[in-house]
Amino acid sequence: MVRSIMMRCRECKRYTLSRDKCPYCGGVVETPHPPKASPDDRFLKYRFLMKILSDKVQVSDDVKRKILQDFSKQIKS
Ligand SMILES: [Zn+2]
Repeated sequence: MVRSIMMRCRECKRYTLSRDKCPYCGGVVETPHPPKASPDDRFLKYRFLMKILSDKVQVSDDVKRKILQDFSKQIKS
């Protein structure tokens, strides 16, 4: 992917191909971080949810409700 060779300036937040310093402001460049919630994480939670719903994992109704609430919040956001 082209984007993976891009670096991002920590100071002015501009993207650059330069690997040592920002050509715009001379600031430190770093690899752009992926968005906070990784799809993997969401996928794992989803699988866990499926296990609970299919009663492969035994949890109390209270916990089940809490997890379901948490999950529906995530879908909306
Ligand atoms: Zn910069």
